[in-house]
Amino acid sequence: MPSSSVHTSQAGATSPRKASLPGGSGAPRLLIIYTGGTIGMVRDPKTGALAPFDFDHLVDNVPRLARLGYSLGRVQFHPAIDSSNMSPAHWAAIAHAIEASYASYDGFVVLHGTDTMAYTASALSFMLENLEKPVIVTGSQLPISDIREDGTTNLITALQIAAAKDEDGKPMVREVAISFGDTLVRGNRATKASSTEFGAFRSFNYPALATMNLHIRFREELLWRPRATGAFATHTALDPAVSVVFLHPGITEGSLRAQLAEPGIKAFVLRTYGAGNAPTTPWFISAIADAVREGRIIVNVTQCPDGGVEETRYDTGDALAEAGAVSGYDLTCEAAVTKLMYLLGQGLSPADVARAMQRSLRGELTVPGAEL
Ligand code: ASP
Repeated sequence: MPSSSVHTSQAGATSPRKASLPGGSGAPRLLIIYTGGTIGMVRDPKTGALAPFDFDHLVDNVPRLARLGYSLGRVQFHPAIDSSNMSPAHWAAIAHAIEASYASYDGFVVLHGTDTMAYTASALSFMLENLEKPVIVTGSQLPISDIREDGTTNLITALQIAAAKDEDGKPMVREVAISFGDTLVRGNRATKASSTEFGAFRSFNYPALATMNLHIRFREELLWRPRATGAFATHTALDPAVSVVFLHPGITEGSLRAQLAEPGIKAFVLRTYGAGNAPTTPWFISAIADAVREGRIIVNVTQCPDGGVEETRYDTGDALAEAGAVSGYDLTCEAAVTKLMYLLGQGLSPADVARAMQRSLRGELTVPGAEL
């Protein structure tokens, strides 16, 4: 989608009667960025189907928001979208909204559909450099307007997490995280693991950053603490020339070569088996080696949600490494795709992209030897 078709508006700009909620002086100032998703959808009374609705509808359904006493601003996507329609242009719009208000707010809550939430959270984690404020992404499995729903709790909890401070008065969370159900997970470690459970998101390869039950308990030792390398900066020039190749027994040479020869694609996430294994048949290895020789980047990411790539554990992984595939260690597919888009967008050479894929930029992977 061209960026011109992504529209956001500042609080009150389109509906001045519904001003942002003011808080008292000293109240946490939080910006809610409403992109769409089930949380704000309404049911068609005839068909029961869900369609996105606007922010006012959402706020009207959560009168308790005022009781938080926070000063809340808002930015809304026009139109609000189902997250299946999310694109890098939308990620750029979210990043720009954060950048434009970075100095004026203590934290940011992004309301988003669950389907591609893990991609958005991953993308934002790379796009927002030297982030020192919370960017909490949330949504819900049931719309807030339903009688029994999870959206109200998720929204209020996300706001409370975004407002939380540590002992020194600094924001407790200084990274992009997904708050959903009773857990807070790092955005670039998250995966949507259930289409039905209220606890829809899991971080298989990194522990939860907080649990939200009777109390909200942060695990401070696990939170990302940016090394001060400079001022906050946003990088919105993502290059979408990335594709995913999913291995399965019976994959043919024709199918693999056609995928790897896709015009315009510069990098592939190769979803392999187990600890990063793939067939050792000569045609398979030479298809990978040919693609690498032609300058394409191939990142080995396992199909297993839990665990990562250990290429040297089996011959089948070793052969792939020798053909030029780069280990993605324990990256999620969501993080691998968005990290590649981010790195390619920086205009790096294939060799530099490959090198950066094996370093942790925002806590998205565990480099072997540095495990917890
Ligand atoms: N299809 C919806 C979306 O991702 C699902 C949800 O929000 O839970 O926008």
